[in-house]
Amino acid sequence: MIGAVNQQETECLRIQEEMMGEVTDVLIFPHEPGINQGCKKCRTVYVSGHKYALGLRVKEGDNTHDYLIGVDPPVSCCGEQKAFFQSFVSNEEAQAAAEMVQAQINRDGSTKNLRLVDWAIPSSN
Ligand SMILES: [Zn+2]
Repeated sequence: MIGAVNQQETECLRIQEEMMGEVTDVLIFPHEPGINQGCKKCRTVYVSGHKYALGLRVKEGDNTHDYLIGVDPPVSCCGEQKAFFQSFVSNEEAQAAAEMVQAQINRDGSTKNLRLVDWAIPSSN
């Protein structure tokens, strides 16, 4: 098995319809073993060997919750929308994307134009 975030784990992700709470941070999650994203049904691989995922930390009441930021536009395969998230090969790319997301949140005052995916990558620490 290549990569810790394998397709089986990707299948555990789900698209978050609506987010309650307040964004505290745009985060880059390094994932050294490699991020793979694909469709389990037809075995199409969309992403392989990426090292960084983009996410948000959100304060929800007394808790904080981390989300991944979904790909935009969304990817559909085999008749269903996939919970793919933004991932990058290099930290520089991830940083640039994080800055764009932060600018978007600042502009909109919310995450309404972001697609969020509920977090399922195993913690890398
Ligand atoms: Zn498919």
